[in-house]
Amino acid sequence: MALGRHNNTGSRLSSRPRRLSAKWLILSSIVTVIGFSVICASVVFDMRRGEEALARQTLDNLASSIDADISRNLELYDVSLRAVAGSLVMPELKDVSKPIRQLILFNQAASAKHFGAIEVFDPEGRLTIDASTLDPPAEDRSDEEYFSIHRDHPDVGLFISRPMLHRGSYAIVLSRRITGADGRFLGVVVGSIRFSYFHELFSRLRLGPSDSITVVRRDGTVIMRTPFDLDVIGKNIGDVPGVKRALSEPSGSYTGLSVLDSERRLYVWRDSTNPLVVIVGKPWRDLLNLWQEEAVRIGATMTALVLFMLAVTLFLAREIGRRAQAEDKLEELATTDALTGLKNRRKFDATIDEEWRRAIRQQMPLALLMIDADHFKTYNDTFGHQAGDQVLIGIAICISDSVHRAGDCVARYGGEEFAVLLPGLAPMDALTVAEKIRLKVQQWSDGSQQINTVSIGVASMIPGATTDWCDLVRAADKALYAAKANGRNQSALASVPELTLAA
Ligand code: GH3
Ligand code: MG
Ligand code: MG
Repeated sequence: MALGRHNNTGSRLSSRPRRLSAKWLILSSIVTVIGFSVICASVVFDMRRGEEALARQTLDNLASSIDADISRNLELYDVSLRAVAGSLVMPELKDVSKPIRQLILFNQAASAKHFGAIEVFDPEGRLTIDASTLDPPAEDRSDEEYFSIHRDHPDVGLFISRPMLHRGSYAIVLSRRITGADGRFLGVVVGSIRFSYFHELFSRLRLGPSDSITVVRRDGTVIMRTPFDLDVIGKNIGDVPGVKRALSEPSGSYTGLSVLDSERRLYVWRDSTNPLVVIVGKPWRDLLNLWQEEAVRIGATMTALVLFMLAVTLFLAREIGRRAQAEDKLEELATTDALTGLKNRRKFDATIDEEWRRAIRQQMPLALLMIDADHFKTYNDTFGHQAGDQVLIGIAICISDSVHRAGDCVARYGGEEFAVLLPGLAPMDALTVAEKIRLKVQQWSDGSQQINTVSIGVASMIPGATTDWCDLVRAADKALYAAKANGRNQSALASVPELTLAA
């Protein structure tokens, strides 16, 4: 009977090096892909924000320069109107001749190709003075808004009319009240800025085909717009939420669908508290054109990379799976007895070491059966080694069939000896299992020409501070020896200091 040889093979077997599992590889790839995607998405959105900020700035500058041009011209023209209105109330003007009066009134007056001639209407709305002629035609403008507003409201100041046909061309009419020294209404001085001014101003700018510039009067009336559409001119868009903001806030921007052409644009305005507000718009599709191209390029590259990475990951995962299977197979081969398919001695040593430590932790008994075929040498000598091998296989099956718990370990200990480890089993329970095995072997061999029996040594211990698993093996071995000595085909239970025998 061989005593258990204590070696450290077991600990080497139990602490198998950690393998990179396919699951971890796939998980880390997915995390990497998600991480990269998040970074890419954030870069793309940053680019979008940058593009938007740049467009906002460009539109802001554009609105600012258009606004400055219009304001300067309005102011220039208004200065002339005020000068005329001021000169008209001078009493000396009554005594001078028409040409001299013309010279005095309009010599300093602003004149440019887009400015209409300044006209003066008396308190009844009749045209009295015209900068373009000494003999103005008979005209009555008493029903025009620019006349009645000054007549009825002395404090209007500079009044800018709705766009209208004025003296044969589309224009906005600028007017100021002529107030006498006593505050009396003495008439209206009127000038006009033709649409051609705006057309020329806008044509100087390099605009996209769908870019829009809208000049709005403070009440929301569209004075001019590019792209030009006569139907839109004069329309009131003051109720549009964005326009409402543009008319009340000094500067800002908004995104909205144009009520005039249903295009979704980013609108920016710059108002230097002028009577006219300039709103510049750029379609979002134009604005994000470059960004979209870049985003698609980055997205496509990213998708290709992700697909490549996933393909590599899947390939590696499959390889790892194959390798793991091969390792498992190898390990199984290394821990399995080739003849019986039971665990081999290496594995048994590893398992008993592990179970012994577990039993120490849990203070539970650990039982061991040492099983030895009786008179096996004789059997071999009589029937040959191959028949002997078949018997060993039969005994292995009988043992395996009798042991069912998850932690139980059945091993071929060597030659015609087997070992069964039964964690948690008290001595009497282990003896019951041993008897079950012994009887099963006996029954199995009943039909054969030569009766095969086994003797079993049984030991069970709760590990103490001074014992190790070699003591358990030794006790079981000793019990087996006693069973042999007592006549074989029996189980013997080791008990300290005596041995109990069961037939
Ligand atoms: P005992 O009842 O005292 O155990 O007698 P025994 O003959 O079984 O004991 P012994 O240890 O003297 O003989 C063991 C025999 O087991 C020796 C050998 O021929 C045989 N044996 C060991 N390993 C194998 C094996 O793998 N196959 C076969 N067929 N026989 C084996
Ligand atoms: Mg033997
Ligand atoms: Mg034997």
